[in-house]
Amino acid sequence: MFSAKRSITAKVVTGYVIVAILAGLAVWYVYNQVIDYSEIAQSNTENNQQLILVSEISTNLNESENTSRRLIQTGDQDELKLYNSQIDTIKSKLNKLEQTYQNIDLENEADSITKLLDQKTENLKELVALRDTDRNTNYYSKALSELRNIDASFKDYNYENRFRNLRPYQKDVLVKWLEYSREDNAERITTQRLDSLVKSVKRVLTDLEFANRQFQNEVIQKENELLNNDLILNQQLQSLLSELELKERENSVERAEVFQNMLNKTSNIIILGGCIILLIILYFIINIIGDITRSQRYRIQLEEAKEFAESLLASREQFMAAITHDLRSPLTTVMGYTDLIQKTDLNEKQKHYLTQIKKSSEFILRLVNDLLDLSKLEAGKMLVEKLSFNPKTLIKDTVNNIIPAVKKKEVNIEIKVSEKANVQIQSDPFRIKQILANLISNAWKFTEKGSIIISAELREISAENHLLEIRVKDSGIGISKEMQASIFEEFSQENSSIEKRFGGSGLGLAITKRLTELLEGEIIVKSEQGKGSEFIFSIPVVKLSETREEPEREEKAEVPIDEKNLMTSGMRALIVDDEPGQLSLTEEVARSMGFEIETAENGKEAIEKLKTIDFDIVLTDIQMPILDGFQLIKEIRNNEAHKDIPVIALSGRTDIKKSVYTQLGFNNKLLKPYKPNDLKQNIAQILDLKYKETEAAEDVPNDKLKSENYDLSDIYEFSGHDEEAMQTIIQAFLKGADSSMKELEVAYKEKDIDKMGKLAHRMLPMLRQMKANEVIAVLVKMETRDEVSKPEFAYFQRKINELMSSLETDITV
Ligand code: ADP
Repeated sequence: MFSAKRSITAKVVTGYVIVAILAGLAVWYVYNQVIDYSEIAQSNTENNQQLILVSEISTNLNESENTSRRLIQTGDQDELKLYNSQIDTIKSKLNKLEQTYQNIDLENEADSITKLLDQKTENLKELVALRDTDRNTNYYSKALSELRNIDASFKDYNYENRFRNLRPYQKDVLVKWLEYSREDNAERITTQRLDSLVKSVKRVLTDLEFANRQFQNEVIQKENELLNNDLILNQQLQSLLSELELKERENSVERAEVFQNMLNKTSNIIILGGCIILLIILYFIINIIGDITRSQRYRIQLEEAKEFAESLLASREQFMAAITHDLRSPLTTVMGYTDLIQKTDLNEKQKHYLTQIKKSSEFILRLVNDLLDLSKLEAGKMLVEKLSFNPKTLIKDTVNNIIPAVKKKEVNIEIKVSEKANVQIQSDPFRIKQILANLISNAWKFTEKGSIIISAELREISAENHLLEIRVKDSGIGISKEMQASIFEEFSQENSSIEKRFGGSGLGLAITKRLTELLEGEIIVKSEQGKGSEFIFSIPVVKLSETREEPEREEKAEVPIDEKNLMTSGMRALIVDDEPGQLSLTEEVARSMGFEIETAENGKEAIEKLKTIDFDIVLTDIQMPILDGFQLIKEIRNNEAHKDIPVIALSGRTDIKKSVYTQLGFNNKLLKPYKPNDLKQNIAQILDLKYKETEAAEDVPNDKLKSENYDLSDIYEFSGHDEEAMQTIIQAFLKGADSSMKELEVAYKEKDIDKMGKLAHRMLPMLRQMKANEVIAVLVKMETRDEVSKPEFAYFQRKINELMSSLETDITV
C-alpha cells in the first residue's frame, strides 16, 4: 500500500517533469522562431526604407531639374547654390542606398547615375555660361560701330520697307541709329552713299545674324545635351528603381515563403508536442488509475484484515474477561476455604499442604489480575485519573505494602525523595503505585543482600509542566545485556533458579511499561549482571500551586483522636447532590465525623436551607439540575450572611482544573469517586479539626463486600465500618439508579444523547465507588457523548440489572 502510494507519487512527479520539459522546449522553440520572424520583419522595414530612399532621390532629381531650368533662365547665383546642394543631397542619398544594399550590387547603377549627374552639372554650367554670354553681348554698339566703319552718310527713311527682313531688335537698333545720322548729317548723305551704307548695314546685320544663329545653335545643342542627359538620368533612375522593386518583390516573396515555412514548421512542432504531451498524460493517467485501483484493493484488503484483527482482539478481550471472571470466583472460594481450614486443627503436613495451596492460589490470582490488566491496557480501556497526591507518601505507602514487616533478608531499604518532589502533584496515583509496586517487588525478589534505594525527583519542564522521575535501584542479581533488550516484553523471564523460586508471571514489566506509556511517560533499565539493576521511570505531572507536605503518618499516630468525639459536635454540614447514592455516601462520611447533616438535591434547595440554618461546611456536587454547583458558590460568596462558609466541591468532571474551582471560591475540590479518608482529611484540614485515619475494614468478611459485579470496600469505609450505614447508602443508590435507569431507557429510545450524557455523569461516581467495572465502560461512552450500539446498551441494561439485584439480595437483606 505504502509502496503503491510512493509509486503513484513518483509517477505523478515524473509526468509533471516530462510535461514541464516538453513545455520548456516548445517555449524555447517558439521564442527562437519569434526572434527569426522579428529579423525578417526588420529587413522588411529596411527594404521599405530603401524604396523610400529611391523615390526621394527621384523627387530630388525633379526638384533639381526645376532649379536647373530657373538657373538657365535667370543665371542667378543663389539658384546655382541651391542646385549644387540638391545634387549633393542626391549623391549622398545614392551613397546611403548603396550602403544599405549590402547584398545587392548597386555600384554600377549608382556610379552611372553619379556620372550622369556630374555630366548634367557640367552641361548646365556651360548652358548658363552661354546664356550669360548672350545676355552680355551688345549688338547695338556692335552694329553701330560696324556701320560707322563703312559709311558715315547712311540715310533711309523708309525703314519698315527696307528693314523688313531684319529681326525687330536689329531693326530697332538700325532705325534709331539712322534717325540719329539723318538729323546730324542730313546735309552730307547722298543717295549713293546711302545705298552703300545699306549694303554695309545688311552685311553687318547678316554677320550679326549668323553669329546670333551660331550662338542659338550652340544653346540648342547644349539644351539638347542637357535634355538627353536628363533623359538618360531618368532612365537610369527608373531602371534602378525597377531593379530595386524587382529585387524587393523577390525578397518579399522569399520572406513570405520563409515566414510561411516557419509558421508551418512551428504549428507542426506545436501539434507534435501537444500530441506527445497528450500521450504522456494518457499514459500516466492509465498508469496512475491502475495504481490507485491496486492501492484501493490493498486498502480494502487491509481494512478487512484490520476488521478481522479487531474482531480477534474483541473476542480475545471477551475471552479474557470471561476466564478472569470465571477463574476469580472459584479462586476466591478456594482461598476463602483455605483460610477457614487453616483456622481448624491441622497437623504439620496438612498445614504445609494448605500453605502450598494458598501460595498457588495467590499466584493464579496475581496472574489473572495481570492478564486482566494487560488486556485492558491493550484494548485501551484502562482509565487514567487525575488526582492530587504527594509522591513521598505514595512511595512510602507502596514500600510498606510490598516489603514484609519482618524481613528475612539482609536488605536495607532506603527512600530518598528530594525536597522539590515532596509536594502535591496531580497525576494518576493508582497507576504510579502499580508501576512502583512492580518495580519494588522485583527488586525485593531479586536482591538477597545489600540495598534497595527508591529515589524521586521533580524536574521542571515549564511553569506548568513537571516530570516526576522515580528510580528503583537494587544491588541484586542484575540482568544480562541480552535480557535487557526484551525485558519489557510479555512473558520474558531469565530462567534462573531465583525466579523459579519466587515465581512470577513474566508480565509485571510488560504491564509496567504500558502503564508508563498510558501516563505518557517512559521507563528504562540500567543493569549489570551480578551487581544490580536500576529502573528509572519518568511521568509528566502537574505541580499544584498549593503545595503542601502531607503530614507524616507516624505523627498522626501519635495523636489518635476518635473521630466521633471530634470538635465537630454541634457542627452542621450541608450536603448537596442530585444523585441519592452519592448524597447518602457523603452523608455517611460526614455523619461518621460527628456532623449534624442537612441535605439538598440541587443548588436552589441548598440556598433555601442556607437562609434558615447556619452551617459550618457545605459539600456540593457540581452538575445538578435547576441550579448547579458553580451557581451555588456564586450565590454563597455574594451573600453577606454566609459568604465565608467553607465549601468543598465534589465532582466527577476531570476536564476542569482544580485552580478553576479555587478561583471561583471553592475551598477545595475532590474528584469523584473519592476516598472517605480524603474527604475527611479535607474537611478536617479546612475546619482545622484533628483527624484520625481509619484502617480498611477487616471485620466484615471480604466476600460480603466483593462479588463478581462490585467491590464495596470503599463504601464500607465511607460508612465508618458501619454495616447498617452501608445498607442505607446502598438503598439510596438503588433508589436513585432505578429512576435514572428508567430515564436513561427513555433517553436512549429518543436518541437524546445529551440527556444520556447527563444521566451517565450522575450515575458514574457511585458505580465507580462500587468498582462496578462492567457497566462503567458503557456509561463513560454515554458521558462523552459517544455512540452506544444496541447490543452494547442491552449488555449494559443486563449488567446493571444484575448488579442491582445482587446488591439487593446480598446487602440490603
Ligand atoms: P515476573 O513477574 O516474572 O517478575 P517481570 O516482567 O516483572 O516478571 O520481570 C521479568 C524478568 O525480568 C524477571 O523474571 C527477571 O528475570 C527480570 N527482572 C526484573 N526485575 C529485575 C531486577 N530488579 N533484578 C534482576 N532481574 C530482574
